[in-house]
Amino acid sequence: MIVSLSQLLLALVILPFLWILVDGLFSHLGERRFQRRQQRGVRECHLCGNHYPEGRKVKISTCPDCDAQNVRGGHRKLG
Ligand SMILES: [Zn+2]
Repeated sequence: MIVSLSQLLLALVILPFLWILVDGLFSHLGERRFQRRQQRGVRECHLCGNHYPEGRKVKISTCPDCDAQNVRGGHRKLG
């Protein structure tokens, strides 16, 4: 197999580009998976913004910092 100089240069340009594309895709997917895993068991307080662990089937939980009641799915009045 004979590779011409133009083919070699093309490969040198395209391969890093493909690598960056694939790497970006994988890091994006990993980030989304990490965020989804974090959102499952962690609740953000609507008053103080504190993150604390919450049980899976708990509808209302109390923030350990400010004792505010946090409703699953967001508070209707406060958003
Ligand atoms: Zn709080």
